[in-house]
Amino acid sequence: MGCRLNYLKNVVSLKLNREKCTGCALCTDVCPRGVLHIQNHKVEIINRDRCIECGACSTNCAFNAISVKSGVGCAQAFINAIITGGEPECGCSKNGRSSSGCC
Ligand code: SF4
Ligand code: SF4
Repeated sequence: MGCRLNYLKNVVSLKLNREKCTGCALCTDVCPRGVLHIQNHKVEIINRDRCIECGACSTNCAFNAISVKSGVGCAQAFINAIITGGEPECGCSKNGRSSSGCC
């Protein structure tokens, strides 16, 4: 993967419960940032600070082994903007968190 950008250090809400992980590898397939890796039949978080909290891993894990507060930092809004070619908008300006929108 060519992109080397990291998210802010030590703020990612990604959590893994290795006891529940079956090693199916679906989360590694859907992760757009190469954060996850299968090792010894279980998933490992190999680069936490690259996670953009998109939520794809937790959404696709059928065993509730991985969780993340998706949308934190308006990551989802930026992903949607890239996909649609529009401006990022997460609604943060509507609830008083920001006057300019997207945190
Ligand atoms: S999708 Fe869930 S069960 Fe499958 S490897 Fe990832 S964390 Fe483990
Ligand atoms: S939240 Fe997104 S970027 Fe972070 S580990 Fe899961 S799939 Fe990868």
